[in-house]
Amino acid sequence: MDRVLIAGAGVFGVTAAIELRKRGHPVMLVDPGPLPHPLAASTDISKVVRLEYGADEPYTALAERAVEGWRRWNRDLGPLYHETGLLLLRRTPFAPGTFEQDSFEIVSRRGHRPELVDGAAVRTRFPAWNAGRYRYGTYDPEGGFVESAKAIARLVAEARRLGVELREGVAFTRLVDRGVGIISGAGEAIAADRVVLALGAWTPHALPWLAAEFRSTGHPVFHLAPKDLDAFRPERFPVFCAEIQNTGYYGFPAHPESGVVKIARHGKGRPMHPESPQRSVTAEETAQLREFLAGTFPLLQEAPIVHTRICLYCDSSDGQFWIARDPDRPAVVVASGDSGHAFKFAPVLGALIADVVQGRPDPLQSRFAWRPGLRPANWQEATRSPT
Ligand SMILES: Cc1cc2nc3c(=O)[nH]c(=O)nc-3n(C[C@H](O)[C@H](O)[C@H](O)COP(=O)(O)OP(=O)(O)OC[C@H]3O[C@@H](n4cnc5c(N)ncnc54)[C@H](O)[C@@H]3O)c2cc1C
Repeated sequence: MDRVLIAGAGVFGVTAAIELRKRGHPVMLVDPGPLPHPLAASTDISKVVRLEYGADEPYTALAERAVEGWRRWNRDLGPLYHETGLLLLRRTPFAPGTFEQDSFEIVSRRGHRPELVDGAAVRTRFPAWNAGRYRYGTYDPEGGFVESAKAIARLVAEARRLGVELREGVAFTRLVDRGVGIISGAGEAIAADRVVLALGAWTPHALPWLAAEFRSTGHPVFHLAPKDLDAFRPERFPVFCAEIQNTGYYGFPAHPESGVVKIARHGKGRPMHPESPQRSVTAEETAQLREFLAGTFPLLQEAPIVHTRICLYCDSSDGQFWIARDPDRPAVVVASGDSGHAFKFAPVLGALIADVVQGRPDPLQSRFAWRPGLRPANWQEATRSPT
């Protein structure tokens, strides 16, 4: 069996390592570490899991498989996925082409049970919301959030348990000139038969031949300490998207351990290097959040912000993942381009990447294909706000 070397132990790299090991390959996984890496996008207290992808049914189908996978991992790896359900609310009525209406139609047609909610329902069931403004929406009992950093820690332990050779403290710097393998930061040549580069937002910086295809962008994350914790318990404050195509804002119930309410923005973001000194939330981003809270969650308007973070996407030009062999380097697979929405697919990502490594066909490969030169950027992911 081919020896596979994977650089990058975020969710792309570690799930690929586990899957390829299960398929019998000797696997080495290298990452500068420590793991979960504090600057990695995968390392956070929570990530949204949703079936809803607007009119993009293949993503909903993939998310269905992922949700089954999270339920299985809850049993096998211990609680990680909290099925709080997903609340999508908007200030204006549904219309064809809106994320909320298209999602509702597709998810219902596929046999799930999202329900429509109106202002009265919002007022009684989800009292933290400004029901006078947000009067149109859906609540899907399926979906919720995963504790992503915890998931990475458990997956890293699982990889070790399966016999993946994990080398923390080892960084990819370049590919070897002859043969297959990498040169590490310490100058060590590490040979393999296949190489997977799963470097997240570091991709455009570490792979110069792909610098034009990806952009690393920073996105603000806020942790708030609500005075009235009860109003933010999952049953009254499930994972939400607040007219996300327009506002970009989404968030989570009070965290089971810390009690903080995390709110973030899935918008344009700011171009930056993952290790940039400018990697902190700006006064402008904070003011925008306060304005959003004032109109949406009156109980959070004055709530203290107890933590902020800038987390990075590896943006592809169309917002779709990039999981493909390099046509100029056939032994190399690049698995990246998360565009801010890949973590939820962790239970199925490993197989998608392993199939490309092994040359096994999958219908999704055309979507995640090697597609240089897509200009201008035109995100096709339904929730991404252009602002
Ligand atoms: C603010 C924010 C919110 C998000 N919310 C959601 C959400 O709600 N739902 C969802 O599904 N997704 C969400 N995402 C997206 C999700 O976090 C990413 O899609 C996913 O974590 C990307 O994983 P990755 O493995 O590509 O990158 P990362 O997790 O960043 O991992 C990359 C790894 O590469 C390593 N590395 C870097 N350089 C080298 C090198 N030279 N050699 C070896 N290793 C190296 C790093 O140390 C790191 O461990 C969000 C992302 C952000 C930024």
